[in-house]
Amino acid sequence: MSNLTNLSSEIFKCIRCGACRAVCPTFGEELSEIAVARGRMALIEAVMGGELALTDAFEKAVFNCAMCGACKANCPSGVDVPAIIEAARAELVEKKRSEGLVRFLARKSLKDKKSLDRAFSLMALGRAAYGPLAATPLAKYLPYQYEDFKRNFPKIPRKPLSKRIPPVSRIRHAKGTVLFYAGCVINYVYPEIGVAAVKILNHAGYDVAFIKEELCCGKPLLSLGETEAFRSVAERNVSLLMGVEADYIVSACPTCSLTLRDEYLKILPQSDNAAAMAAKVRDINEFLLHETDFIARLDAAEMIITYHDPCHLAHGMGVKKEPRELLDAATLGGLVEMEEASRCCGFGGSFSFLNYELSGRIANRKVKNIIKTGAPAVVTACPGCLMHIGDALRQSGADAVAFHTLQIFEKAIKK
Ligand code: SF4
Ligand code: SF4
Repeated sequence: MSNLTNLSSEIFKCIRCGACRAVCPTFGEELSEIAVARGRMALIEAVMGGELALTDAFEKAVFNCAMCGACKANCPSGVDVPAIIEAARAELVEKKRSEGLVRFLARKSLKDKKSLDRAFSLMALGRAAYGPLAATPLAKYLPYQYEDFKRNFPKIPRKPLSKRIPPVSRIRHAKGTVLFYAGCVINYVYPEIGVAAVKILNHAGYDVAFIKEELCCGKPLLSLGETEAFRSVAERNVSLLMGVEADYIVSACPTCSLTLRDEYLKILPQSDNAAAMAAKVRDINEFLLHETDFIARLDAAEMIITYHDPCHLAHGMGVKKEPRELLDAATLGGLVEMEEASRCCGFGGSFSFLNYELSGRIANRKVKNIIKTGAPAVVTACPGCLMHIGDALRQSGADAVAFHTLQIFEKAIKK
């Protein structure tokens, strides 16, 4: 198991205590040992020891993980479960090669900007045609026949962010330059959040640079075990992003921030540029709170909200208090905590595409916690969580609406 060999000491750190059962979202639904970090570690160890083959059941256990990182953040031995799962997936890709639509599309579309543009244009067309086609006899030929076609995808706008903002948005007396990295979901699905980011960063006193040719951060490839494709994306993004003079690199997608900051360093350990880049990367909430006086520049209005912690921000980057402080200031103390705020919403990137039924059950638990607060709005700092929670709220018939933190901050900028 070449992909796992380097991590064998990490795997053996698991003391089988079971503390991960309390926080694991897949275990919370499945209540089965193969759906929790402890069981997954035991299976991987058995495969490494030659006691278990790369069976379909093993593959399912390894790919049924949401990669939320809650186990790692709460593990008394500090076992890096997501890194081990990623290595096991890479091993499966190398030795077993189970192809599927999600994997095929990710490999074909995430490798360069043109393919990415084409893929999202096709998705926009598919998104428009899916509903009408689902009502015809052709429905049985459509992919992703989730829950009687109930999944709510946002409409994909014709104009991505790369066609809406200039390469540099300047202000007078800027304190420095921030390079805004949008990532795919903001660029293609929620460009209005990217436009808000530029406005907010300008308001906080910074010029904002943007690279129209930025690639996907590559995390979907890493999660699918496509290590070589991920390495190639990482190399090209490091070269693109380090080619722009900027004091900070800021993203409003925690998965992108975590990937640019930590995962590129792991896959390119010899690269000085990857290390220099990692030092500049910030989530936009931590940047606004720690590097600017944004709170003092707010023109806040009363609003009651609750907050959902994105896994890669809370467990991956340890950023929990920053969005809360900013939101509380922007809503004049209107932040109400929900129960299990840092429990995964079930999105998990490719996880929700490969396991929509399970990811939907995880989301329903989140919806119940949102409803219990009585808040009319749930705010999160991740465009993926926004999409998934928005879908679950609509399916449940709840009145609450989901927002990104930047949509709340944008409302609270002095006119
Ligand atoms: S909490 Fe950590 S050490 Fe304990 S069973 Fe889970 S992975 Fe193993
Ligand atoms: S990463 Fe999340 S889903 Fe996967 S084993 Fe850990 S807690 Fe469970």
